[in-house]
Amino acid sequence: MCKELAGKIALVTGAARGIGQAIALHLAELGAAVAVNDLFEEPAAATAAQIQAAGGRASAAPANVSDAAAVEAMVEGVVQEWGGLHILVNNAGITRDTLLLRMKEEDWEAVLDTNLKGAFLCTKAVLRPMMKARWGRIVNIASVVGLAGNAGQANYAAAKAGLIGFTRSIAREAGSRSITVNAIAPGFICTEMTSGLPEAMRQAALEQTPLRRLGQPEDIAAAVGFFCSEKAGFITGQILSVDGGMVMR
Ligand code: NAP
Repeated sequence: MCKELAGKIALVTGAARGIGQAIALHLAELGAAVAVNDLFEEPAAATAAQIQAAGGRASAAPANVSDAAAVEAMVEGVVQEWGGLHILVNNAGITRDTLLLRMKEEDWEAVLDTNLKGAFLCTKAVLRPMMKARWGRIVNIASVVGLAGNAGQANYAAAKAGLIGFTRSIAREAGSRSITVNAIAPGFICTEMTSGLPEAMRQAALEQTPLRRLGQPEDIAAAVGFFCSEKAGFITGQILSVDGGMVMR
């Protein structure tokens, strides 16, 4: 049976662990060849090896997404190795949480650089090969925090809200080439990013979640798989909350 994403080439940023890794594994299951990005070669190669062990196609594509030259070289390398690029998932993200009065300029810059500038650089680099293919799927991993705000996360909320505006703008720019651009706003997902948060915060998140469970990386991966499918070909510029009902709009 022909798989949904057979013949497609995907690049997933920050895919060595957590949500990005689940997305990379799922897109590979759906038949895409996956370029696994992360900051360093070794962890990216480990995810690629996991995909290969499951019978999929993948390779490591290490780069810092906030470094323009590194991103260009990475995308060139992926196109050379796999012969094109059809899917980009801007997933790499970091937090530097603190109240605004204590927030240092470097906390602001680091979060904006990875979460927002990273998506700008990667999207800019992949647009040409996607336009050439006259088919593309870009999925940006935002956050409920970009919709609702959160005390102690002004930098992160600004980056994720920026990513939402970016999503809608590029959806308008790229639509005529059959390239869709959508975002997912995850709620509280169990990964390394959230594992260090105090138990009281987990409990509070649980209480604010009508479905009464915390999210898993696979919940986000399933939504990404849908946005990348042919079935989602008439959906662009949309922000899908995958949060157990935490934020209803
Ligand atoms: P995670 O477990 O911390 O994983 C993030 C991955 O991104 C790590 O492998 C990290 O590599 C990599 N990375 C960081 N900076 C990078 C850079 N400059 N270039 C390339 N890769 C980089 O985080 P996660 O929870 O899976 O989150 C993934 C995305 O979902 C993020 O955008 C996050 O903001 C978003 N999100 C998460 C949640 C949640 O509850 N977990 C909720 C809403 C949105 P290193 O290990 O080397 O740093």
